[in-house]
Amino acid sequence: VAPPPSVLDAFRAAAARAPERTALAYFDGRIGYAEADALSDSVAGHLAGRGIGRGDRVAVMLQNTPHFALAVLGAWKAGAVVVPLNPMYKSAEVGHILRDSGAVALVCEARAWVGYLREAAYGTALRTTLTASDLDFQSRNDIRVLALGQPGRPADAGSDVDDLVTVARRGHPAPPDPGLTAADTALISYTSGTSGTPKGAMNPHGALTHNALRQVTGHPIPEGARYFALAPLFHITGMVCELAACFTNAGTLVLAHRFDAGVVLDAFLEHRPDYAVGPATAFMALAAHPDVTPDHFASFRVLSSGGAPLPPALVERLRTAFGFYLRGGYGLTESTAACATVPAHREAPVDPVSGTLSVGVPGADTVVRILDEHGAELPFGETGEIVVRGPQVVPGYWGLPAETALTFPDGELRTGDVGFMDADGWLYVVDRKKDMINASGFKVWPREVEDVLYTHPAVREAAVVGVPDPYRGESVKAYVSLRPGAHAEPAELSAYCAERIAAYKYPRQVEILPVLPKTTSGKILRRELRERG
Ligand code: ATP
Repeated sequence: VAPPPSVLDAFRAAAARAPERTALAYFDGRIGYAEADALSDSVAGHLAGRGIGRGDRVAVMLQNTPHFALAVLGAWKAGAVVVPLNPMYKSAEVGHILRDSGAVALVCEARAWVGYLREAAYGTALRTTLTASDLDFQSRNDIRVLALGQPGRPADAGSDVDDLVTVARRGHPAPPDPGLTAADTALISYTSGTSGTPKGAMNPHGALTHNALRQVTGHPIPEGARYFALAPLFHITGMVCELAACFTNAGTLVLAHRFDAGVVLDAFLEHRPDYAVGPATAFMALAAHPDVTPDHFASFRVLSSGGAPLPPALVERLRTAFGFYLRGGYGLTESTAACATVPAHREAPVDPVSGTLSVGVPGADTVVRILDEHGAELPFGETGEIVVRGPQVVPGYWGLPAETALTFPDGELRTGDVGFMDADGWLYVVDRKKDMINASGFKVWPREVEDVLYTHPAVREAAVVGVPDPYRGESVKAYVSLRPGAHAEPAELSAYCAERIAAYKYPRQVEILPVLPKTTSGKILRRELRERG
């Protein structure tokens, strides 16, 4: 089966096949495919009325809500490119991305607009803003009444600001079909900024539909299944594995605002989802919640983790405690989510030497090579930089020709990750090249040390960084958070590692924190911990 040219085509095909099926579920609210089609037509008509058309950038800065999906569909129907923005971004970060992308429209929460985004918008190309005004909530009970129901308050009289729900309900006719092709840019998605300033990867529609279709056909999930949006939609994992895959499969996208373990567990029981993908940290939080039971996961056909390292100890803990196998996957914003996945009915092997869990195997049309520092290809089993070529790799970064040339020589993606491949084609990610610790000239990969820490029963989250050391150059330091009710002393954790890994690798310093700093997409921020020292 060939993927449809654009995600919009996938959505329209689903709306034609199953107009009455629920496309978007949000607590007590439900929006069917035909209704979502009509509401997003109206958003598109509104944008077109503001002169927004093919290739223009529309920034969408929302949590996982129906409004997000309607804004994205509306923008695509107008022919525009979506720039997903993390709602946790502060003024300066938003200002940077709005300016960098040249966005002409912004869709955001009303409270954030009034609070600080209006200021961030000064000096940008923004012509119009749509606010979603019923997203404010303080507690779990408040969220439950937030279906896409109440007509919005007037967002900001006097300037070109309108309420998204009101606009969607106005019944503007859709502009003429923009005729999106697979090569047209669907998203400019800014990288997570885990290692530096976010860069805008230009994800073509064809890359999204390719990976979405791969996911749909690669798993035993029936048409019309329920996809739980555990990863944020503003991150490429959510956009591809949740939104695009769900529409490709004419499924129901179950949304629950932003990650909150208690809310998510309730929603699992209420919606009985078939599929979810999220960062490993989300599964750590769910597993540590006092109310969690195996029944919470009983409806799932597939649970997968992507976008960040998956400790093998977590996979085993989840299997023992809840009876499911957490399926891994590896990808980057620059590879439009997945470049390697664990195939259905298989389990990823663990490398016997390093203890690292494989991230999966590349798809049939994806070529993964391992290169040494001179760019020569390495044989099976040898460690070097992972490079990827395939239909999911983006053509480059928005407005950054020099970075594009460096990261995508000849269209091949230099991932900046270090790994190896075994003789059976399983790929292993050792770590990010930049995160290597040089302790007295020995290479230490933080990931390997973290995997050991995760086997300790008291450890909930672990991050290992290099800190300056007058004698060794750098020494290994671990930050950990503990599981609820568990107790461990730093010295005990340090000794635990010393018994299990080489003397130059174990963390001489261990610091226990209540929680570790994370990006909103759930990745532990080693950079922030390194700065802490
Ligand atoms: P920035 O590029 O701004 O620093 P980022 O690299 O975190 O941010 P993403 O595109 O979200 O941006 O993340 C891709 C990175 O996540 C990969 O390069 C890799 O380091 C890591 N990653 C993704 N999946 C896995 C996995 N299964 N195992 C280990 N690491 C993974």
